Amino acid sequence: PVKKVSLINDLINDFVRIFESQAFLQGTKVNTQLKDVPPVIMDANQIKQVLLNLCQNSLQALRLGGALTLTTTYISKEKMVRIEIIDNGPGISPVNLKKIGIPFFTTKDTGTGLGLSISYSIVDKHQGRIEVESQEGSGTRFSIYLPVDEQ
Ligand code: ADP
Ligand code: MG
Repeated sequence: PVKKVSLINDLINDFVRIFESQAFLQGTKVNTQLKDVPPVIMDANQIKQVLLNLCQNSLQALRLGGALTLTTTYISKEKMVRIEIIDNGPGISPVNLKKIGIPFFTTKDTGTGLGLSISYSIVDKHQGRIEVESQEGSGTRFSIYLPVDEQ
């Protein structure tokens, strides 16, 4: 089980500082809307990997231009922090939505189809969960839920 406690907003700010230069090169703007949230129990390196996998997918879906937004919110009734990764890309068809996260499922010529399945298992080990909502033609939202440190 994961026992380290960290501030997710710090992790996201550090991550975005690096990632936005890569996004800028293809004309994608990266925004953050980070609320005041309690510390969460996480392995920062593993959660950074999840952020990278999900944001990389958004960047690849956005191709040229578009916007990527990362948010944090405290969901007090669940004692969870929710991290959203929202893009205004092409979205995922209902048929593909059922298959994403299955190891090796990819719609890309050179994709591995492993990014999401690895992300799901990391978040699972954290006793959290990932939800996805997607609308073809308007975009995709991944929501990562991580338990807060109740100490
Ligand atoms: P890969 O990126 O190697 O294809 P992933 O597991 O990261 O593997 O993603 C699986 C599939 O999910 C992608 O090929 C793509 O079809 C779909 N997908 C994931 N995120 C998005 C997104 N933000 N917008 C559109 N499609 C997405
Ligand atoms: Mg990927």
